[in-house]
Amino acid sequence: MGLWGPDTSPETAEVVLQRRLEALGMPPFKGFATHTNRTVMLSVTGEGVLRLHRGYAWAPDRVLSAIVRYVRPGTRRATRRVAEQEFLSFPVEAHAAPRRPSRRGAERALPGDAATLARLAALHARYNAEHFAGKLPTIRFRLSGRMRTRLGELAVDAQTGRALEIAVSRVHLRHGWTEVEQTVLHEMVHQWQAESSLSVDHGVMFRRKARAVGIEPTARRHLGRGGPRHAAG
Ligand SMILES: [Zn+2]
Repeated sequence: MGLWGPDTSPETAEVVLQRRLEALGMPPFKGFATHTNRTVMLSVTGEGVLRLHRGYAWAPDRVLSAIVRYVRPGTRRATRRVAEQEFLSFPVEAHAAPRRPSRRGAERALPGDAATLARLAALHARYNAEHFAGKLPTIRFRLSGRMRTRLGELAVDAQTGRALEIAVSRVHLRHGWTEVEQTVLHEMVHQWQAESSLSVDHGVMFRRKARAVGIEPTARRHLGRGGPRHAAG
């Protein structure tokens, strides 16, 4: 099968998977990404990016059709449950093993990370009390060296709708803490959407809540004067 096989590159597998899903009628998403994290097979980020385990690139059409049914808006609950069982039963790890720790250099912990994560957790607690009546669950923060164009990103578990974690770009941390505070609050509005069973997007509810908590009610923010444009997830 040419390049296609167990040693197919992650990039090729991702492209092939996306094309197969589209051919099977996958609804449009703002983006598509694959991963090899086995705890969450399928999720949709706050920015509307569908994230799927890369092992599904090797799944038969029957399994991919189940994924399409699962993510298609308006699918009945009972149908979704059956579809979920179908795609969760596929052994993704037999095809795409988790990345070896030695290859995760970019995401390795760096000196100062613990202090930054503690500061982010404290910030979350303070904003939670100030703007959300303390109702948001505590959430895990992750520092990402791979996020270059996005400042922050909320990951949502597509199976439960619950917010999973907030990733903050390491590049963004260099923009100064005041900017990071704005990004955390932006992601917390998305967390509030997820916890309130609202769709996680930049629609009317987002803009209303963003204004109420005192941040720009926009998806994108400009940093600095005439500097590069960054998207906040
Ligand atoms: Zn956003």
